[in-house]
Amino acid sequence: MTGNSAWNQRGDGVLMNTYGRLPVTMVRGSGCLLYDADGREYLDFVAGIAVCNLGHCHPAVTAAITEQAGQLVHVSNLYHTTPQIELAETLCAHSFAERVFFCNSGAEANEAAIKLARKASPAGKYEIISLAGSFHGRTLATVAATGQSKFHEGFEPLPRGFIHAPFGDIAALESLIGPATCAVLCEPLQGEGGVRPLAQEYLRAIRELCDRHKLLLIFDEVQVGMGRTGTLLAHEQLGVVPDMLTLAKGLGNGLPIGALLARDALAAAFTPGSHASTFGGNPVACRAAGAVLQIMLAPDFLPMVRARGRYLAARLGELAARFPAKAAEVRGMGLIQGLVLREEFRAEGPAIVRQLFEQGLLLNFAGNTALRFLPPLVVSEEEIDRAVALVADALA
Ligand SMILES: *Cc1c(COP(=O)(O)O)cnc(C)c1O
Repeated sequence: MTGNSAWNQRGDGVLMNTYGRLPVTMVRGSGCLLYDADGREYLDFVAGIAVCNLGHCHPAVTAAITEQAGQLVHVSNLYHTTPQIELAETLCAHSFAERVFFCNSGAEANEAAIKLARKASPAGKYEIISLAGSFHGRTLATVAATGQSKFHEGFEPLPRGFIHAPFGDIAALESLIGPATCAVLCEPLQGEGGVRPLAQEYLRAIRELCDRHKLLLIFDEVQVGMGRTGTLLAHEQLGVVPDMLTLAKGLGNGLPIGALLARDALAAAFTPGSHASTFGGNPVACRAAGAVLQIMLAPDFLPMVRARGRYLAARLGELAARFPAKAAEVRGMGLIQGLVLREEFRAEGPAIVRQLFEQGLLLNFAGNTALRFLPPLVVSEEEIDRAVALVADALA
C-alpha cells in the first residue's frame, strides 16, 4: 500500500468528497516541481493556488520553520511573541497599514474585515457591497459576500447584509448604496472568477464613490497579494489605496496564516474582546511569513517577478494567436495569467486540465472561463516554455 493508486483509494474512502481531486497523492515538492507517491514528476503551475509563491520547500522558509518549531510553537494571544511582532512591523513598513490582525486563512481574514467594517461604522450601517464574479471564502459570511450563486446554493439562509453589484458598472454600484451600506469589498483582480482584472479607472471610481458616501473600501488580496502581480501588494500598481486589506494564501508559503491590515484610526474600533483567534499569529506561521517577506523585499526579487510575468504573458499571447478558434484572450497581472477560452470551447476546460495533468503539468480552470497560470514566482523562463509547449499540444 505505498503507490499512488492505493493511496488515492484510501483517501477516497475516508475523506469527505468536497474537492473533485485528480487521482494523485503528492508526497514531495521542490521549487516548481512536485512528486507523487509513484515518484512521478509534475511541473506545478498551481502552486497550491498562489500559496507556494517561493516554490515548494524553499530552504530559507524551511529553516525558519524548523528553527521556530524547536523554540516555541504556540502560546495564547494573551501574550506577545517575537515572530508576530516582527511580521506585523514588516507588513506595516511596506504598506499603507499601521495595524495588523492575524488569523489562519483567507476566509477568516475577510471575516475579520467584515466585522471591523461593521464595528467601525455608525449604528445601522452594516451592509457590504461586493461584485458579481467575486470570491471571498467559504465561511457563511464570506460565502454571502461571494458574488457567485453556485457557492450559495444549499446553504441558505445566508447571513444578511451582503449585496452584489454587476461587474464593471459603476452606476449600478452607486445605485445599490443605501442608508445601511458600510463598505465595498472587492478583489483588485478576480482570481477564482476567471483571472479578471478590474480596470484602473473602475477601481478609482469605486474609491471615489466610497469617499463620497463615507464607505470603507476593503481589498481582498488573499490571492493576488504577496508578490503575485509583481508588486508586494497588487493595488500598489493601480494607484488606489483601500481602508482595509486582507492577505492569506502566499503569506506563509504554505503555512496557514491570514492577515487583516488597516490604519490606526480604523483599527481602533477593535478593543480587547472584540475579535480573536486561538491560532492567529502562531509563531511558526509568522516565522515562515517573515522569511517569505525577507526574500520578496530583496531589491531584485519583485523586478524579476515582473519580468517573468511579461514573459509568460507574451508566450501565452503567442499561444492565443496560434489557436484563435479556442483561445479568446490572455489577461492577468504579473504571474497570475489566464488564457480565456472561447465560450463554445469552455466545456473542454476540465478535459484540458486533466490531459495536462497526465502530461505532467498542473494547471487549473478558473471560473469556468480561463486556464489559470499561477507558477511559483521563482519560475524560470525554461519552465514557462515547457508549460506553454504542453498547453499548445493540449489545444492542438
Ligand atoms: C482563496 C481565496 C479566499 C479564501 O481563502 P481561504 O484561505 O481558502 O479561506 C478569499 N479570497 C480570495 C480572493 C481567494 O482567492
